[in-house]
Amino acid sequence: MKALEKRITEEGEALSSNVLKVGSFLNQKIDTAFMFEMGQEIARLYQNEPITKIVTIEASGIALALAAAYYMKVPVVFAKKSKTSNVSGEVYQAAIHSFTHDCDYHAVIPQAYISSQDMVLIVDDFLAEGNAVAGLTGMIEQAGASLAGAAIGIEKGFQGGGDALRAQGIRVESLAIIEKMEPNKIVYR
Ligand code: 5GP
Repeated sequence: MKALEKRITEEGEALSSNVLKVGSFLNQKIDTAFMFEMGQEIARLYQNEPITKIVTIEASGIALALAAAYYMKVPVVFAKKSKTSNVSGEVYQAAIHSFTHDCDYHAVIPQAYISSQDMVLIVDDFLAEGNAVAGLTGMIEQAGASLAGAAIGIEKGFQGGGDALRAQGIRVESLAIIEKMEPNKIVYR
């Protein structure tokens, strides 16, 4: 998506050789019209799949998931990063390594929210090493649901997660793929 590449080039900040900050439009301050353009593009990419639900992970995946789900007319389920007191009943769970915080956490989704009848699309803002998508994939498998694929805002291709998922046969569509990143220089695939 050229408009996303342009926005990253204009506003993104490479905090290091592998962490990109896009807080001014995607992560902390959200450009809602642009987020919905991204969501519409995801809906277009997966228009031929009989998707019944979008699954993402809190917090930064939720906005893009919501935008895509709006156009696809399906609900969004998000995994919580810990089992808080308002998560009740049996849960699907996965241990996920956080790339940005360099720690492990237990993601949970109540079993009531995904069933074996569902065809699920995973949506997330970023794809780096692929741990978040792999963890969500595991929870979808626990539910016995089908996986249509993953739709990502920004994939950092040089970290390999996307290609590893593709090699496993998972359809991964990213609206922008960064091949190389240095302060003041971002190269797209
Ligand atoms: P992965 O699990 O694929 O290694 O990392 C993906 C998750 O880490 C996403 O949910 C995203 O929130 C976060 N993440 C990974 N890389 C970046 C980055 O460069 N910038 C931001 N803002 N988040 C990132």
